[in-house]
Amino acid sequence: MGLMTGLDLSLFLFLFTIFIYVFAFNVITTQHKVYLLFHFFMMIWPLGQVGVHITDQPHLQIIYINISFVGLSMLGFGWLLFTKFLVNVSYRPSRKTLIYMLLPSVLISVGVLWNPWDSFVSTVDSTYAERVYGPIFWIMVGLLISYYIYTVRILLRAYHSRKLPQDRVRIANALTGIFIMMAFPLLDLVLNVILDPWLPVIPGLTSLGIVLSDLYFVFSLKKHRSFDLVKIAQQDVMDTLSVGIIVLDEHDNVIEMNRIVSPRLQIFIGDTLNMEELLSWFNIDKGNEDEFLYSYRTDPYKRIQTEIMIEQDSSRKQYFSLHVGPIVVNEGRIGKVITFQEISELKSLIFKSQEQYASMQERNRALIFMQDELFQANRKLEQLAITDSLTGCFNRRFLMQQLEHEVLTNVRYKIPFALLLFDIDLFKLVNDTYGHVIGDEVIRRTADAVRGALRRTDILARYGGEEFTVYLPHTNREQADMLAQRIREVVQNNEIAIGRGRSPVSVTISMGMLVVEEQSDLQIEDVKGYIRDLFSKVDSALYRAKDNGRNRVVNL
Ligand code: GH3
Ligand code: MG
Ligand code: MG
Repeated sequence: MGLMTGLDLSLFLFLFTIFIYVFAFNVITTQHKVYLLFHFFMMIWPLGQVGVHITDQPHLQIIYINISFVGLSMLGFGWLLFTKFLVNVSYRPSRKTLIYMLLPSVLISVGVLWNPWDSFVSTVDSTYAERVYGPIFWIMVGLLISYYIYTVRILLRAYHSRKLPQDRVRIANALTGIFIMMAFPLLDLVLNVILDPWLPVIPGLTSLGIVLSDLYFVFSLKKHRSFDLVKIAQQDVMDTLSVGIIVLDEHDNVIEMNRIVSPRLQIFIGDTLNMEELLSWFNIDKGNEDEFLYSYRTDPYKRIQTEIMIEQDSSRKQYFSLHVGPIVVNEGRIGKVITFQEISELKSLIFKSQEQYASMQERNRALIFMQDELFQANRKLEQLAITDSLTGCFNRRFLMQQLEHEVLTNVRYKIPFALLLFDIDLFKLVNDTYGHVIGDEVIRRTADAVRGALRRTDILARYGGEEFTVYLPHTNREQADMLAQRIREVVQNNEIAIGRGRSPVSVTISMGMLVVEEQSDLQIEDVKGYIRDLFSKVDSALYRAKDNGRNRVVNL
């Protein structure tokens, strides 16, 4: 066993011991698992190197070389993942992200294993102890440098965005570790590959770098308790809360938050939180927004609240109540805590009850409308109940009802009134000559003519057939006489057209008239009977008018 073999073997054993140590003496968290994966990739290099040196058979040597370089390729991925976890304790990559991170390492590993046309490595004097590297090797070197630059960038950005000293120390340690890890392989590359023709081979440089950096990692992780269980547990507890939490320092930089926040609000640790922008995207409580922002800017000790809405997609809206409160230490404010409490359910209840209220109001309106219609229909019914359908005059029933009331008042206050009863003369003849349809028209037009001759307070009612009665309130004999004659004349002069080419029809009426004036001490016991008497009197007056030759008024 040569010097190189011994060195690589002891380095491998050393790394393996650390591996077992980390595994045995820690509670295995996700962070530890990631670290162990990274560590595992680191161990593979020296292991492969041992293999290359203990055999002189090229087909075995190439297997060990493959093992070494696949391990080295995968180290890029392991390192990137480990860095992500170092920077953000609650980092949980998606499967897609993992594949993207892994893909370059896997592709280059395939190139190494395949070694097409010896473009990765070829023998010198048919042994791999002396070997020449091809383009795939250089691609691998380029890839490792790319991973290196990328992770350094992540660490540097995290370093600048972190405000807490312990965070910065942790990140600075990681930067030192990766520097050590990269310095030795680069030295190895320069001395043993590029300057190979001129210099003797210096063994185990890469292995040494790996071991040193690993030793440094384990030491600094332990010292700074980066994987401190309490801290991880705290983050876990924060992450399991259903309330979103963002902790800001005094310059509004985000220094801590839980997992609920990031995917929803697109806020990340290290960002400077712009509350105005946040509200302009999500706020729904526009009325309160100016006041909220004013307090946010000017009164850092005040606890303030508003509501925001986040649209996951068009069908799912989430509502949050957003609270801002100060973090006060020794009466000085050192930051703010922003919390988001989901209130979607409450909101949907409020919306539902608002909807119910609106539909109830709608129903109320419909009910009022229906009531109105019912009222109109009732009025129509009432109208129908007191109207004669042929002539539009009042019917007999209505007149009788009115009279019952009127007569009593008239008698009590000694108000004169008159009753007229008239009948169309020789109406049978009209029917017989022109038919019933024209007979009806004659009745209707006669009623119209009479109505036109009356005063507004007089009541014209159809008494039956072609007989009508008129109640004349506040009317003495003289006035009644005049009105009766006027009615008779109006009918007589009323020419009723019955169609083109036919001469108009006119009819006359005979009328009985009764005037009640002197009712000095009249006591009415039976108002219906009294009215019946009045009608039988006026009826006999009508008969008298017929007997006396028709087309006249007979006064009782
Ligand atoms: P008089 O001068 O004695 O009253 O002779 P008249 O022919 O008018 O006799 P009477 O009053 O007894 O007859 C009325 C006729 O009116 C009987 C009936 O056929 C007719 N009549 C009653 N009501 C209506 C109606 O609503 N329409 C039509 N077309 N005719 C009616
Ligand atoms: Mg008649
Ligand atoms: Mg009659």
